Amino acid sequence: MDFYTKNVHYSKKSKDQIHSKVTPIYQTSAFTFRSLEELEGYYEGQGNYLYSRVGNPNTDELGQGVAALEGADAGVATSSGLSAVLVSILSVAHAGDHIIANDDLYGGTFQLIAKELQEVGVEASFVSFENKQEIVAAIRPNTKVIYSESVTNPLLRVENLKQVVEIAKEYNLVSIIDNTFATPFLCKPLEVGVDLVVHSATKYIGGHSDVTAGVVVGSSALMDRVTQKVVNLGANLSPFESWLACRGLKTLSIRMERQSHNAEELAKGLDGYRGVKKVYYPTGLSPLGNGAMVSIELDSSLCDVNTFFSSLGWIKIVPTLAGIETTVSYPIATSHRALSQESLDELGITRGLVRISVGIENDQDIVSAFRQAIDQSLQK
Ligand SMILES: *Cc1c(COP(=O)(O)O)cnc(C)c1O
Repeated sequence: MDFYTKNVHYSKKSKDQIHSKVTPIYQTSAFTFRSLEELEGYYEGQGNYLYSRVGNPNTDELGQGVAALEGADAGVATSSGLSAVLVSILSVAHAGDHIIANDDLYGGTFQLIAKELQEVGVEASFVSFENKQEIVAAIRPNTKVIYSESVTNPLLRVENLKQVVEIAKEYNLVSIIDNTFATPFLCKPLEVGVDLVVHSATKYIGGHSDVTAGVVVGSSALMDRVTQKVVNLGANLSPFESWLACRGLKTLSIRMERQSHNAEELAKGLDGYRGVKKVYYPTGLSPLGNGAMVSIELDSSLCDVNTFFSSLGWIKIVPTLAGIETTVSYPIATSHRALSQESLDELGITRGLVRISVGIENDQDIVSAFRQAIDQSLQK
């Protein structure tokens, strides 16, 4: 089945007697049994549901839906993208173990690994993933996980997934890739041999900025461990949030297609435009497009950054991404606020850097809105 078709029809068929077109919201914390035999049957793998923290038709629909699109055996929905990262790592690395991760991770993931996991005894090294020698040099006897993102934030570097998989196989590590920015429409890390894929479903999976959720997908063997962590740590997603994310997921392919097209037009429209020093837009991600995120560096010797942000009209400043509306964020003041000047310089995050999440509006309207804000910001 083609991705576009699968995207709409991934839902498993409801076993209910009432044949609703979409899955109803099973807003219940637990499920009933008619007899002790039926209860016994649950534990023997017959009946499906017991208690919503352990499993619920709506959370299953989300986990299985993303698994189908990523080409995975199984998937589980989690309470947020960060809890998806947490359970995926904890299913592999324990106290005394070590993980290696790339040094331009999503800020929240960096905090989780560098602070929270460190506090429970999981050590981490952050290295540039541009160079194989540097990654290999960071591997220790107790290294269990190699962690990265298929497209990084905010400079939109496309990860060399083949290299990550090569290293994982050579050193017997579990590879975990955050596929939030690319989505399975543009990139399927499991196809090149990655072990686990995590998503912040808050972003493109949900797509409408109305839900905080996460998903982990992978092989059955690994997912049994991940799902156990979700249950034992209480990292499950609620039925309603799952339902919302599933509703959004069904239009992933057309949103990504349109948003990637618009992003490409915006990148072209701002490249070389007076006041724009540099445009960051990935290449080579997929023949279907290169994603819907664009970052630009305004030339601070020409532009007043404050004026730029307040001249954007219908484009709002929002510290998130991936909705259907075009929005902007300012990494140095939000996601990368905590970094030292030295790290900022190293990563190339400057005062002029603007991250743009491109929406589904008309492409030329988006280009014009940015051009006129840049024009306004040019100091006379
Ligand atoms: C937003 C985001 C996360 C964290 O997801 P939440 O749903 O906010 O917990 C992780 N990774 C990436 C790449 C993100 O953009």
